[in-house]
Formats: sequence, C-alpha cells, structure tokens
Amino acid sequence: MKILVTNDDGIEAPGLWALVGELARAGEVIVFAPSREQSGIGTAITLKQPVRLEEVEPLVAGVSAYRVEGTPADSVILGLEVTDGVDMVFSGINRGSNLGNDVLLSGTVGGALQGYLKGLPSVAISVDYSEPVHFEVAAKLAGLLAHRIRGGSMLLNVNLPNVDSASIRGLEITRVGRGGYSTAFRMGQDGAPGAYRIALGKPDWTGGQGTDIQAVRQGKISITPLKGTLSSARKLPALDGSLPALLRELVGGDETPLGSS
Ligand code: MN
Repeated sequence: MKILVTNDDGIEAPGLWALVGELARAGEVIVFAPSREQSGIGTAITLKQPVRLEEVEPLVAGVSAYRVEGTPADSVILGLEVTDGVDMVFSGINRGSNLGNDVLLSGTVGGALQGYLKGLPSVAISVDYSEPVHFEVAAKLAGLLAHRIRGGSMLLNVNLPNVDSASIRGLEITRVGRGGYSTAFRMGQDGAPGAYRIALGKPDWTGGQGTDIQAVRQGKISITPLKGTLSSARKLPALDGSLPALLRELVGGDETPLGSS
C-alpha cells in the first residue's frame, strides 16, 4: 500500500510526522509537503511561477520526503505526477480543527481534495487546537482508516477533540456545520501606512445535531464525507420568475418572454 502524505502546516510540522510515523507501519509513505505554513490557502494552486521540489531528510526512517515550494494542492498534484501507484492521500495532522465553513478555506482539505479528484480515497485530518496538541490519537486513527478506505473513492474530513484516547467520547459520521474562524475575521493595521492584516477572530460556530462542530464539542471524533460538487438546491426565488426578462435585458430581443408562446 502506497500512501502520499501532505499537510498545510509545512514540512517541519510535528503533526505531519506524527501522521507519517503511524502510516509508515501501514504501508509505504511518500511525503510531499509545503516548505512553509500554508494554513488558510484552501485549494489554491500555483500557476504563474515554477514550483520547486527538493528531496529532504525524513524525520521517520524508511520514508521519502520532498519539500515543495508551493501549496498543499501543488504538493499533491506534483506528488501524484512523479509517483506511480499511489493508493491514497492523507493530509495533516493539522494543528487546529477544520470545521463548518472553514472546510472551504482549509489547506489541509485543499490538499486531500486533489487526491479525491484523481479518484483516490483521501483524508484530511485535524486536531482541535489548544496547547499541548495531542497528535497521537489522530495518528493512530489514520493508520486504522488506511486499511479500511483502500480502493474506495472518497474525501473524508476528520476532526478530533484535543484529548487523550481515554477521553474520546465517541466516533460519529457527520455533516458540515456553519460558521468558523473564516466567518469571524478581524482586520487590523499592520503599522505601515496602507498595510493591513487579516486576523482570525473567535470562531462563531453554530452546529446542530449531526454536525462536525457538535461532535467535536461533545468530545467525539467527527468523520465528514465531502464531495466535489458545491451546488445548492436549484430553486432560487430571487431569480426563478425573472430569467426570461434577465436574458432579454442581457442579449436584447423582442418582448415575448422566452419559453412562453
Ligand atoms: Mn494548518
């Protein structure tokens, strides 16, 4: 079993190597990870400049590791390009949860997404943030999941409360809740004129029963299956009755509403 591992906290992050250490017992591990922290970079890819790839000394024996001057998505795209026979992709272990709306901005999820788009089972895995971060439960779970997801096509977003294994209250399949760090940004001055900083505020999570947010709040591990389509319901009251008029205004034409006779 060949496992490609990336993250968004950068190739030196302890969460990455905790994950690699456990996965290396399940199969052959190849690391392609960003050279520096890319949290919040989401699904971004680098198009207008070269992406450098450099083999580095792994922190776990028997593993090959490459530092990528780019994003988590770049790392997985390149990694799958230069490596034959990858069976699955893991991204993490992120230092900090990726719940609710933060899923869309998460570089951890953005890395795993590239594996999923190639048809591979792919897992983003994160631990709720508080010091010290317990990566060991997440790492062990990743090792157990690797044996169970092989051959399937799926994108899983896994979040764990930051507790030891004795304090885990359950394991639940969830849906994505609402709110998060990404809907609570603060803007601040950077000091220099015209320079600002976008800072993470206090997350405004609202998670009902069955959401990722609620599960982690209750001390449970959350496994959220994601899919690559973002479409909402096709009904759109603001536009549904006025599409013919909108089209007429856009491209001209007679007064007869399109679709009527
Ligand atoms: Mn991160």
